[in-house]
Amino acid sequence: MSEYSITQVGTFEKCRLQYRFNYVDRIRRVAEGVEAFLGSRFHETMQWLYRERAFREVPMEEVLAFYEGQWKAAWHDEVKIAKKERTADEYRNLGRRFIEDYYRRHQPFAEGKVLGLERKIRFSFEQGRSYAFKGVIDRLMLAPDGAFEIHDYKTGSGLPTQADLDKDRQLGLYQIGVQRLWPEAEEVRLVWHMAAFNLDMRSARTREQLEALKSEITSLVDRIEAEKEYAPYESLLCEWCAYWDLCPAKKHLKKVEALPPDRWKDEPGVAIVDAFTGLHRKRQQVEAEAAVIERELAEVRDAAIQFAEREGVSVIAGTRGQLRVTGREAVVSPGKGSEERAALESELKALGVWDEVATIDTAALEKAVKEGRWSAEVLARIKAYISTEKRYSVRLKEEKEEKEEA
Ligand code: SF4
Repeated sequence: MSEYSITQVGTFEKCRLQYRFNYVDRIRRVAEGVEAFLGSRFHETMQWLYRERAFREVPMEEVLAFYEGQWKAAWHDEVKIAKKERTADEYRNLGRRFIEDYYRRHQPFAEGKVLGLERKIRFSFEQGRSYAFKGVIDRLMLAPDGAFEIHDYKTGSGLPTQADLDKDRQLGLYQIGVQRLWPEAEEVRLVWHMAAFNLDMRSARTREQLEALKSEITSLVDRIEAEKEYAPYESLLCEWCAYWDLCPAKKHLKKVEALPPDRWKDEPGVAIVDAFTGLHRKRQQVEAEAAVIERELAEVRDAAIQFAEREGVSVIAGTRGQLRVTGREAVVSPGKGSEERAALESELKALGVWDEVATIDTAALEKAVKEGRWSAEVLARIKAYISTEKRYSVRLKEEKEEKEEA
């Protein structure tokens, strides 16, 4: 039976392809974001602090020195700083501030008994079938009132709302694990230390909420086990993904980024995209120009119609051609879907002439009215629904060919 961590399940939800690289193909990468690197050093420092605290009081300077030593020893060239305007030292100093704030807030670190530091837990439960999970609790505590407390350190820059934490799956799942592993843990509290905000936040779960969480997580596990395609899902989280060289959405970017700037244009993919971009822009420009010409042509067409009406002519002479302007009265029936249209259809049916115009074919209606096919009574009743307007055609005759312009 496969064992799942909450991080694993979360990765599947965020990007199935990243999940495949990491958990199916097991492609290990040393690259990590500086935020995760800082988080790991903070966790190590807290673990060391509480371990030492069992024996002695630890001055803040010593805690900071431990943190600095861990940072220096663990730093490697693959640590990725996604925010280009930031430096590694700025992040290191940020971590120092988190530790100073935490130290002042929690000194003398005597909020209960430490039951475990970075405590690994493995457990399973039945939900139709058996599901197995694993996790690491940052700090498991026994509070003075006998409650178990699951403590979690967060070093991220986003502050969750209380509602977010009341739905948090990670510590909820850990509570399920703790209560299976230590049945005496009747009351469990969930505690988050938001290091960036010097804030502690708490939550608790009802039995019903834990049952709902079991259903939610096991149905995700079912989806993971049924997955076949592992499609990439691009999002902001790609910035922290270590698989750009394998991901179809990112690998060409990764490849060309590694080229010196003077070689970019020669790369075949870059050349194709540049050609496409150039033609696309050209087309947009031509379409914009065509739209302007269409508007100007419509204005000249109107001017030609007015001129023809005013002067009583049907052909207007120009130096390079002639414009033929013809006008005719056209029947205008109500628009499709309108109430008037429905009423006209009923009227035509009632008058027994519906079959002649079928579904109000305007041309058929116009022809029937023009040819005087219907009695005066029929026409009078139909005319309540229709109107006429004069429609023009303006045709240009250039040397040999004649084109209709509108
Ligand atoms: S780069 Fe983005 S889309 Fe590609 S695998 Fe990573 S997270 Fe998924």
